Amino acid sequence: MSNPLDDSVQYLKGVGPSRADLFERLGIRTLRDLMLHLPRSFDDLSDLRTMDRLEAGVLQTVRGEVVEMQGKELASGRSILSIVIADEKGRCVEGCWFNQTYVAQQLRYGQRVAFSGKPKWFRDHWQINHPRVRPLDSDASETEAAVVPIYALTEGLRGDQLRPIIRQALTRAADQLPDLVPEGLRAKRGFSPAPKSLWEAHFPEALAEGLTARRRFIYEEFLVLQVALALRRREVRDRRRASPLVTTEAIDTHVRRLFPFTLTADQDRAIAAIRRDLASDRPMQRLLQADVGAGKTAVAVYALLVAVANKHQAALMAPTEVLARQHWQTIETYLAQSRVRRALLTGSLSPRERRQLLDELKAGTIDLVIGTQALVQEGVEFARLGLVVIDEQHKFGVNQRARVRKLGADPHYLVMTATPIPRTIALAVFGDLDTSVIRQLPPGRQPVKTRWHSESQRERIYERMRELLKEGRQGFVVCPLVAESEALDVTAAEQHFAELKEGAFEGFRVGLLHGRMADDAKDRTMQEFRDKKLDLLVTTLVIEVGVDVPNATVMLIEHAERFGLSQLHQLRGRISRGPVAGECYLVAGAITDEAQQRLRAIARTTDGFVLAEEDARLRGLGDFFGTRQHGVADLQFGDLLQDLEILEYAREDAIELVAADAGLREPGHQGLRQAVLERYGATLELAEVG
Ligand code: ADP
Ligand code: MG
Repeated sequence: MSNPLDDSVQYLKGVGPSRADLFERLGIRTLRDLMLHLPRSFDDLSDLRTMDRLEAGVLQTVRGEVVEMQGKELASGRSILSIVIADEKGRCVEGCWFNQTYVAQQLRYGQRVAFSGKPKWFRDHWQINHPRVRPLDSDASETEAAVVPIYALTEGLRGDQLRPIIRQALTRAADQLPDLVPEGLRAKRGFSPAPKSLWEAHFPEALAEGLTARRRFIYEEFLVLQVALALRRREVRDRRRASPLVTTEAIDTHVRRLFPFTLTADQDRAIAAIRRDLASDRPMQRLLQADVGAGKTAVAVYALLVAVANKHQAALMAPTEVLARQHWQTIETYLAQSRVRRALLTGSLSPRERRQLLDELKAGTIDLVIGTQALVQEGVEFARLGLVVIDEQHKFGVNQRARVRKLGADPHYLVMTATPIPRTIALAVFGDLDTSVIRQLPPGRQPVKTRWHSESQRERIYERMRELLKEGRQGFVVCPLVAESEALDVTAAEQHFAELKEGAFEGFRVGLLHGRMADDAKDRTMQEFRDKKLDLLVTTLVIEVGVDVPNATVMLIEHAERFGLSQLHQLRGRISRGPVAGECYLVAGAITDEAQQRLRAIARTTDGFVLAEEDARLRGLGDFFGTRQHGVADLQFGDLLQDLEILEYAREDAIELVAADAGLREPGHQGLRQAVLERYGATLELAEVG
């Protein structure tokens, strides 16, 4: 039997093929789609006022009789429609419409109507622009609604046209909509069953009813996601077994002695949590978030060495070659006197070198390996892999975690990100991970001073930069993103490099670093910069993450308006690595409002966590990670920034539910089970529930 939910909207009264096209544009094909096209918000027209009690700028409803209707063509070709209504005492309110003369066709003189809108006082009377008009003598109940849902619409389709169509769909199919929220949770959270909620969302009697109904569907969506994450977490913890890696006092003392500094309190706290996790036979699943420069690497090294000290192999995976090499060098300096057998695995090894290295990993004669994604490619196997650390997790995507091949027990995982993730997003996207946060910067760090200038200040910025370079400091010039194409970025960078070298920075040692350079050329340039053989490095975004040269203290970012907030924050993070306050100059041309907000934010605060929230707010979540997270953050109803509270209780409920019924076997959980598998089964590898 066919399910009416899957029926096409075309067969509803008032939807022919051409309307169906409009619906299609809204992503609506079936009755299910249509019913779940929930209002974005509601206009509450229940605030009924008499004409002497109107207030400017507040949404109100006022009633009267049509006493005047007048249309006018303006010279510009625009038309204005004015309709005046009067009450029994002769007081008037004027409604005005631009380019919407059709409104007049629905009205006649003497008709009683209600206007809803935000009035303003104009010369000698109240005026409302584009009021919502409801004829009061009509008996069609929906025109009387006091709470009017506001829908996402498309040109050619108005809300008042949509409502009767939705009503038909609800009458035919609302009862069929499966309820994913188990009855117990519905009762606990005060939600109606799905069919009733549909009616309440589209035709609410009161504002609160509409809002609650909307929240119910947001909750349902979050619940499905959070149950999926809870299942994954459970699966990893309860079904997989890792080797316990115990940190003895001797190991702790030994590792700490390798660092040329004392760990900060935040680093210590993160390490304490990691030690606890590692000592368990449940694989660690921990996310380490740190602001730029807060010192994640030391924490990672600590964990890696604990694994090695426990006679297990450990792997550190970085998103780029430059970073893998940098980690390699850092670790080389820490381990200078150590017998830990270690190797660097990147894409630039010769086939022979690679073969050899892979053999050693499999034989277990390498303890510690550092690499790029090359680490998780076909053919990489470990003898006794105990721990995997993934740097800059968000560059990899959610799924990368599980890809490492090992022989024997599951490894512990530590994933790190220097892009602080707003709490909501962390819950939604990484809800299956425990989290540690390092906010505190190492002692003595000075916050970067960030200034935003126009082109006209360029000479003065160059002057200041030359001054600093002469004092022995080093600096970066970051070239603008030209286009989506890396090739164009590179051309622009090469040009800019040539200009600066011969122009403003003549006589200084200027280097160029970009993503298209061969790996050894990149390496050589970075090494020269580290060795202070270069004063100034002209770069593209390749230095965005992680590059650590404490003597570099000044940065100029060209066309700063083209960079995202977290990119800017990451970039300037490159010059706050030592005891001298960095100076970051943003040069921006003519820019949009949004870009101005971004630059103002970056100049105002150096707190990466504050900026991350702002960034997600400005750009929307889809873009936050650069790419969509395989649908995990791709929500239909919920908004991760606005609906934090709902998300949190959905998470709480999901954890309880999975604790009580891990297989989702109970009859009341079948709808939920099916939805979880459909939406997240593949992405989160929820094999065990299937
Ligand atoms: P990020 O979190 O951005 O990866 P890093 O781990 O690269 O930060 O550390 C940034 C810099 O701070 C490095 O130069 C590192 O040597 C230094 N550092 C890390 N921890 C401390 C500490 N506790 N005290 C002093 N300096 C530290
Ligand atoms: Mg780092």
